Amino acid sequence: MHVFENVLIIDDDPILRAISQAYFAALNVKSIYVAGDGRKALQIICDQAGDIDFILCDLNMPELDGVEFLRHLKDHNYRGSVGIVSGEDMSVLEIAGRLAKTYELNIAGMVQKPLRKPDFDELIANAAKCLEEDTASSRRAVTPNELAAAIEADQIVPYYQPKIAVADGRICGVEALARWQHPDTGLVAPDLFIPCAEESGLIGPMTQTMINQTVADAARWTGQKIDIHVAINITPHLLEARTFPDKLASTVHKAGLQPSRFTFEITERTALQSSPLAMEVVARLRLKGFDISIDDFGTGMANLEQLRDFPYSELKIDRSFVQGATDDRFARACLKASAVFARELDMRLVAEGVSNQAEWNMAVEEAVDEVQGFLIARPMPASEFEAWYKSHEGVVPLDSIGQLQDDTGGDADHCSLDAVLRLVAG
Ligand SMILES: [Mg+2]
Repeated sequence: MHVFENVLIIDDDPILRAISQAYFAALNVKSIYVAGDGRKALQIICDQAGDIDFILCDLNMPELDGVEFLRHLKDHNYRGSVGIVSGEDMSVLEIAGRLAKTYELNIAGMVQKPLRKPDFDELIANAAKCLEEDTASSRRAVTPNELAAAIEADQIVPYYQPKIAVADGRICGVEALARWQHPDTGLVAPDLFIPCAEESGLIGPMTQTMINQTVADAARWTGQKIDIHVAINITPHLLEARTFPDKLASTVHKAGLQPSRFTFEITERTALQSSPLAMEVVARLRLKGFDISIDDFGTGMANLEQLRDFPYSELKIDRSFVQGATDDRFARACLKASAVFARELDMRLVAEGVSNQAEWNMAVEEAVDEVQGFLIARPMPASEFEAWYKSHEGVVPLDSIGQLQDDTGGDADHCSLDAVLRLVAG
């Protein structure tokens, strides 16, 4: 777990200040600053010239309250993380959290008092994740030429993230996710090259190489009695190619496979921007026996009526609703509504981004069919997935779910920070 150097605790309650101080002292934080209100806290931040990496902030305080303090943090362009705590109602905490997000502050979480050790642990784990993401977003951009060369050299490879059936733990499928196996810098995370691929039009050839490799892997798995569903993310670009369904069907048949083994994930946003040609292509994919999934459901602000145009067989709830739903009532409501929607329309319901026991429990409660996320397994190369599947004999025992969570603490992708730093340096 990442250890913070400088932490600031802001609370007018001396007992909470003492508890928090003791917690951070046990973490070997270098400097712990404390303030009884927002004004004193701002003074500390000015004196430390922005070196505070984590702030634990109460809302109800004299002088300058927490909500005002967040606005000042924005004005100071504060780049560390903030954990918001309060004895107020959860809805007040949620408003403060949303406000902080509109200020583009890195919010590690909102917690109701009294704070217990697991609350602290979660805030710190989230804060470490924010920090990593911040490092990621400031990385050097990839150029289209580099990316084109990488596609040409077969350096873009599928990593497979398993999905298990909530009912019995059966490993029922995988989602193929693009990774760049860079010869010099190691594994490159997708957020570094997917935006470039989308902007440059290279997403088309990249998806095609992903399809080819994934079909070949699926054919090999059949020989090993690994009969699972394989999901591939599909881009608007390919949906605009009239010949796509025929080519795809021929590729799959040549590999000796049935189209029903494959699910094509189309994001809600893509679906909404699609042309009549895209609708035709999707309809023909479905006719040929491929499954169609609506991905990132809930993020495209779709008028539900518009979703009628696509013959979906699966609904994939966006990770933000899954991960937010344990402490955000709005996200929870979205999750519940999606579940009802999927059930009414006989769609398979998949929750992605499930990273802890609480989120798993929620998926069970909402009668989700399949779960994907770090709680089950990270995305992995084909050979590693094969070994993983065999070691589990095709089933993840449901009573082992709580113990699956690995101890890295973060939910970051399986991509070493070293590799990223080397790429930045290069
Ligand atoms: Mg997807």
